[in-house]
Amino acid sequence: MEVTDHILSIPAEPAFYTGPQAPNVFMIVDGGEAALIDSGFGDEKSIKTRIDFLNEHSKIKLRYIVLTHHHFDHSSGAQQLREASGAEIVLHGDEEKWLMDTSGDAPQDIEIPKDQKEIAKAVQKFREQAAEGTPDVRIKDGDELKIGDLTLEVVHTPGHTVGSSCFYLREEKALFTGDTALGLGTVAISPPPHGDMGQYLQSLEHLKSYDCTLMLPGHGQNVNAVKTKLQELIDHRLEREKQVLGLLKDGKTTPKAQLKTIYMELDKRIVPMALRQIEAHLAKLEADGRVRRDGDEWAPVE
Ligand SMILES: [Zn+2]
Repeated sequence: MEVTDHILSIPAEPAFYTGPQAPNVFMIVDGGEAALIDSGFGDEKSIKTRIDFLNEHSKIKLRYIVLTHHHFDHSSGAQQLREASGAEIVLHGDEEKWLMDTSGDAPQDIEIPKDQKEIAKAVQKFREQAAEGTPDVRIKDGDELKIGDLTLEVVHTPGHTVGSSCFYLREEKALFTGDTALGLGTVAISPPPHGDMGQYLQSLEHLKSYDCTLMLPGHGQNVNAVKTKLQELIDHRLEREKQVLGLLKDGKTTPKAQLKTIYMELDKRIVPMALRQIEAHLAKLEADGRVRRDGDEWAPVE
């Protein structure tokens, strides 16, 4: 599917997904060379769709499989696509240890209830597949990758994960945002060490400084009004922060006590994710010196 003359989308119907939106996989093409942005899932069906697509474009040399972050919906297909194409896997250096971690301790984009054994098994396989994608190229903020005559600039945007990165395709004024900015809805931010709400907001502010006419997110629709979208995401978090602080002042001193007020109708499967979200706000407020923690409870600093 063509997005612009130099950007294609490779949709695949995932064989597995408990969330509302499948991960997006994009291909940047110029001068007989290409790079993928994210690999999508590693299940057989997704991989076949993507390899078929690469085969249909067999005159183009795939040089890079660029991963926006370690979460397995974006990365578990990378090793199989590397094997099929000979491309190099590219990942931010700070993200590698999380990609390699198959323990299941790090939060993912998908919350798996412990009683769902079949799903848990599938998820463990995705984690292991993701961990096989050892990066060939470790990138940092400001690095540039060349695809034909095009320049892809690395923008380190920590927050959703430690090494989450966005990629700015300069000649197209296009920004690939992974899970840092979605086309629809908001993304889960965990408290440190897995995520960081303060850094997340700084990352969104930083992205606003790029001259962009197209945002290509890790899930959901492409966005043309990029700055407006980024500002919306910032405003949403600041609203939520205000709400968390207000509830704290009203005596709701734990994330659990705040949960029902903030998320009125919540599927019980995503309760852990919602709690982490509130904790992430509290951790930011603590770092800002506006709240303090006392065991499991939090209190505003007067
Ligand atoms: Zn993610």
